Amino acid sequence: MKTYDFKWSDLGDTEQGRPNLGTEAPVAIYRLMQFTLKDVLSRQLGLEKTCELLARAGELAGREFCRNVLNTRLPLAAFIADFEKKLIDLKIGILRVESADMQTLHFTVTVAEDLDCSGLPVLGGAVCNYDEGFIAGIFKEFTGRDFTVRETDCWAMGDRTCRFDIRPSGG
Ligand SMILES: [Zn+2]
Repeated sequence: MKTYDFKWSDLGDTEQGRPNLGTEAPVAIYRLMQFTLKDVLSRQLGLEKTCELLARAGELAGREFCRNVLNTRLPLAAFIADFEKKLIDLKIGILRVESADMQTLHFTVTVAEDLDCSGLPVLGGAVCNYDEGFIAGIFKEFTGRDFTVRETDCWAMGDRTCRFDIRPSGG
């Protein structure tokens, strides 16, 4: 079976490659790719498996993002502040830490204006599986431990912000 191993360098040099159009594209176009991928994968694998795979892709993205974009030499609180700032700089979302237990590593965070779901119609369930994985991957890469992240509120459930429960797996 052939596989593909993602490397950060596969993202290419977007500045050199798009001198006229630039390095950004509309949010709807990003969502078009993600949701059509979800459509075709779910027909092949079922929705549950598809959501699990999207979360795994998000986790891979989170680990690579942490390695390539975030400053992992910072202590935890400063690391989270850096994460918050990068999410805004890259227009991914506006993260706020609602509660943080530095001993148990249990966090509750909200993400407003989320790239994946803000403004979606009410679909009856949380849709940010990729984001759950993305956050888990970042915490895993930083701490060396596995994390479980669950989205408890989502624009697609009628909420006006996404809320994520973050804790070490099995903890
Ligand atoms: Zn959401």
